[in-house]
Amino acid sequence: MKAVVKHGLEDKEVELRDVPEPEIGPGDVLLEMKAAGVCGSDVEFWRNRITYPINVPVVQGHEFCGVVAAAGDDVAHFAVGDRVVSETGAHVCGVCEFCRAGEYNICPDRLGFGYGVDGAFTNYVRVPERCLHRIPDGVPFEHACLTEPIAVAYNAVCVMSDFDPGDDVVVLGPGPIGLFAAQVAKAAGARVVITGLPQDAVRLAAAEDIGFDAVVDVSNHDLEDLVAERTGGVGARLVVDAAGAQAAFAQAMEIVRRNGQITKIAWNMDPLGLSLDPIVAKAVRVQGSYSHTWRTWENVLRLLAGGALNMDAMISHVAPITDWEAIYTAAEERHAVKAVLRPV
Ligand SMILES: [Zn+2]
Ligand SMILES: [Zn+2]
Repeated sequence: MKAVVKHGLEDKEVELRDVPEPEIGPGDVLLEMKAAGVCGSDVEFWRNRITYPINVPVVQGHEFCGVVAAAGDDVAHFAVGDRVVSETGAHVCGVCEFCRAGEYNICPDRLGFGYGVDGAFTNYVRVPERCLHRIPDGVPFEHACLTEPIAVAYNAVCVMSDFDPGDDVVVLGPGPIGLFAAQVAKAAGARVVITGLPQDAVRLAAAEDIGFDAVVDVSNHDLEDLVAERTGGVGARLVVDAAGAQAAFAQAMEIVRRNGQITKIAWNMDPLGLSLDPIVAKAVRVQGSYSHTWRTWENVLRLLAGGALNMDAMISHVAPITDWEAIYTAAEERHAVKAVLRPV
C-alpha cells in the first residue's frame, strides 16, 4: 500500500513509499483509513522542526478515521464494518501515575501515531481498541477525522481553562487549532475575538465566514484598544495562545484581565526573551494544554453530531495522499485552512 513516510531526520526527508499492510495483535483493529487531516505538526515533521524524538521511518498522519476492516480476538466492543475515529496516543504505558489517574495524554511513555508509531496517510492502520470512538450517524468521514484537532482545542478551552458564558475570550492565531478553539469557546457561550496577521488572510477569511464577535488583523488594528473597548477596560477573562510567537505572548499579557488566564497551546522552539512581570502584577494564571482524553473525544463527537461547529469553513482542501507535498506546502504557506487526505 502507498504511504507518506518520514524516513530521515533532515529537512524534507518525506516521500511516498510502498509499505506492507500492518499486522494486528489480539487487542487491535485494522482500521481502513477513509479520511485523515493534515496537521501543522505533519508539516513541521516534514521540515524537521520539532523538539521531541521521532522514530523513523514512520508513516505520517495522526488525525484519522475509517472503518474496522479486521478485529483481533480480544477486541470486545467493535466489529468489522464499524465507523470509527482513533485517538492519537497509539502507545501509553497504562501503569504510571498519569495513566492510572486517567491522564494518559501526559504519560511519559506516550507514543503517538504518525511520529512514534505508523500513522494514517496510507490505507490501513493498526489501532489498539482503547483508542477507538464510534462516529455518530450523519457525521461524514471528512468531519470525523478532525475530531483530534477539535479535541486539542476543547481540552485547552473547556478542560484546562476557566470562563463562563458571556465572558470575553481572545484567541491569538487563526490556524486550524485557533479557529477550532474560537469555535468551541463560542459554542460554550463566550464572546470571542480571534486575531491574525496579514499572511493569515485565508484563515481570517474563514474566521469571518464562521462568524465571531470580532476578527482582527493585528497589523492594522490596536488589539489592546479593541479589547479594552469591548470589556470596559477590564481585559479578557481568557486569552488562548494558538500562535506561539513571542509577540503573541506579550500581547496576551497586555490584554488579559487581572486574575484572568492565558492558556498556551502553540509551540515555539525559541526562548521567550521577555519579562513575565505582568503575570505577577496582574495575578494571571498561565496554563499549558496538551492533547486530550476519552471524555473530551466523546464530547467533541457530540458537538459534531449536533452541528455545533462550522466544518465547511474549516476544510479548504480534500486531496488524495499522493498529493501530500502540494498540500503540506499550502499548509506551510498558510493558504490552506484545514486539509483532508483521502486514501488511494
Ligand atoms: Zn494534530
Ligand atoms: Zn503511562
